[in-house]
Amino acid sequence: MCTVRAVAELLTVEDALARVLEHVRPLPSEPVELADAANRVLVEDARAAVDLPRFTSSAMDGFALRAADTPGTLPVVARVAAGRPVDRRLEAGEAMAISTGGVVPDGADAVVPIELVRDEGDTVVVPKVAPPGANVRPRGGDVREGEVVVPAGALLTPHRLAALASAGVARLLCGRRPRVAIVSTGTELRRPGETLRDGEIYESNGLMLAALVAGSGALVGAPEQVEDDAGSHEAALARGLEADVLVTSGGVSVGPHDLVRHTLAGLGATEVFWGVAMRPGKPLSFATRGDTLVFGLPGNPVSSLVGAVLFLVPALRALQGTAHPEPPFETGRLAAPAMRRASRDDFQRALVERTGDGVRLRVLAGQESHMIARTAAADALVHIPRGEGELAAGAVVRYLALDGAAGA
Ligand code: AMP
Ligand code: MG
Repeated sequence: MCTVRAVAELLTVEDALARVLEHVRPLPSEPVELADAANRVLVEDARAAVDLPRFTSSAMDGFALRAADTPGTLPVVARVAAGRPVDRRLEAGEAMAISTGGVVPDGADAVVPIELVRDEGDTVVVPKVAPPGANVRPRGGDVREGEVVVPAGALLTPHRLAALASAGVARLLCGRRPRVAIVSTGTELRRPGETLRDGEIYESNGLMLAALVAGSGALVGAPEQVEDDAGSHEAALARGLEADVLVTSGGVSVGPHDLVRHTLAGLGATEVFWGVAMRPGKPLSFATRGDTLVFGLPGNPVSSLVGAVLFLVPALRALQGTAHPEPPFETGRLAAPAMRRASRDDFQRALVERTGDGVRLRVLAGQESHMIARTAAADALVHIPRGEGELAAGAVVRYLALDGAAGA
């Protein structure tokens, strides 16, 4: 029988994350159509295919003219709609009506907005001086053809997709999406909707982890559930090890029914660490087999959540080639004092209150690792770093927003 360490030497949260990321080998890249690229990671700089704006264009509905001819009354010699350029120069003393986004004709150097003129049909009265360049968007003023619009390593958020579309980029190179298998262990687990017998509980981690994984741009199948017997564990974990990432929940502690670590060892996985100096979520294991990463998350639902956002989600992003896989911590101030633990980092559920004076974090009552229902009210995980004594009200701390828990 394969053995695993029975006493955890706890790693700090920072060291544990560093160890995880050291073992990530980014997956190969693949071409992706822009329309399919949302929430993917770009792995090669994307450059503009065209100048943006593509041509000298008008920022307003109004009249294109020469600034030097203002103020004055000018003949309107053409009307330019967006997408319909006129093939004629604007000569001295002339005006052309133009729409927002219309091609500013050669010869014109300003556009006077419609609100500032009197349109008399054949002529337009411009009562004030227009400065040269007014309301004219120069060609290439946003980006020039060939320049980088989005760099390698960036997450393709909606605003970056818009930038790429505007710059004429139709295909991209993205990191392949990791395939993730999820296995929830526990004989006591039943699916929501089923009838509970004595000692049974509803399974929640599989669903939560699948949502986190999908939000991290990875591909996930339906979570599996296994009872606490060696045969079921072995079959499910062997299947899971075929994925790029295997995530287990429960069974990773030291009880007689905690079979995950032994089973993984028997299947040839090498444990990188077990035990992180944090609360909740201490008995977390991380292993590898070949290029497959294995996260053994504790079964208590809040522990599973914390372990997943601190280690699993960053690993999934790193596998896809992101430049910044670390959890996206923000900072705020504690609403009330908080005790620190000498040797463990604490991740407490809290409300985010936005005040005129910045973000205030109000830690919720009920911080035990099984209290997932109370966690529903939380907006954030607040990091109370290990140390002596208490942090005063108003102390600046880091927090992770739970609505952005997938790091998007
Ligand atoms: P374990 O880590 O297996 O010792 O489980 C710790 C606690 O979490 C126990 O009370 C389990 O019943 C509970 N638990 C384990 N897995 C899940 C799960 N998938 N969903 C909800 N609770 C779980
Ligand atoms: Mg269990």
